Amino acid sequence: MSTQTPIRIAVVGVGKIARDQHLPAIRDSPDFELAALISRSACNVDVPVFASLDAAFAAGIILDAVAICTPPNVRWEACRVASRHGCAILLEKPPAATVDEARILKRLANHAGVPIFATWHARYASKVSEAAAWCRTHSLLSGRIDWFEDARKWHPGQVWLWKEGGFGVFDPGINALSILSALHSADWRISEPSFDVPSNVEMPISAKFTLIAGDALIETKFDFRPTAVDTWSIHLESIEGARMDLTEGGSALSIDGGVVSRGQQQEYTALYERFAGLVRSGESEFDIIPLQLAEDAFANAKTCIVGPITI
Ligand code: NAP
Repeated sequence: MSTQTPIRIAVVGVGKIARDQHLPAIRDSPDFELAALISRSACNVDVPVFASLDAAFAAGIILDAVAICTPPNVRWEACRVASRHGCAILLEKPPAATVDEARILKRLANHAGVPIFATWHARYASKVSEAAAWCRTHSLLSGRIDWFEDARKWHPGQVWLWKEGGFGVFDPGINALSILSALHSADWRISEPSFDVPSNVEMPISAKFTLIAGDALIETKFDFRPTAVDTWSIHLESIEGARMDLTEGGSALSIDGGVVSRGQQQEYTALYERFAGLVRSGESEFDIIPLQLAEDAFANAKTCIVGPITI
């Protein structure tokens, strides 16, 4: 596909992230043209809306790509139809509810010869590449990840998030795992995971575990309970005693306790630039390490049932 031709894209699932990030990023991108929305609820928009991808194709809509922004456990049908029609596929994080399901989606796309992009938007936060450069020149010894946000503030009414396949506090927490595995591409493993699960839902509201790679240990806490301040931070220390604090979800960085530098928010702009490159070159990018780590934590967690929550 030439670099001049706009990539005609449909967004599938028009919820919070589609409205907050995908639609503005597509609108501002020189590479994409929004051709349709696939939605059960979208209205008052200036592009055609269809209840399914099949219905869009039946109506004669021509698409080169789809961005799937539904919850992770309901993506198979859209991937199947998109692959069959030769559309490149962008998957919001996490790519699927399980590693096995993710591999099936990848095989569907590979078999049809279409690019598939399992996105990890947090890796595009403005200070992650500088943090990665620090990691390349230091030997990691220890660290701490704190990923705390109030579920009722950021995810009100998202019932799916609290059901099997919805990940609970790992929905934001997996962003930390995606950043860490990009900073330091070692074979991380999860040790001693423990979860608090409210009595009226299936997914954890908080989680604690240690991430281990070689001699490096990272104490990790995810928490979805109300908090005075949202905290999305990764603190790392090297064997030589150097320190790196990557905070604000990867958009603020301090080295050795020095001044905090911040970059502009541009995660989804960068993510769509990457997707355009993949669509035009016909390549795929599909990293499941953060999902594998989350799955390992779920498989081995010691669970404590806590009081009920309001969603
Ligand atoms: P959301 O607000 O609940 O939106 C999901 C949308 O998917 C719904 O509005 C609905 O759109 C569609 N959908 C299709 N089948 C559904 C089903 N069975 N149950 C619920 N919705 C269904 O969720 P979101 O926050 O946008 O998250 C969607 C994905 O983006 C998740 O994988 C999440 O991890 C990821 N993400 C979210 C954020 C965030 O800050 N919220 C940030 C980054 C990534 P229609 O009514 O249009 O069909």
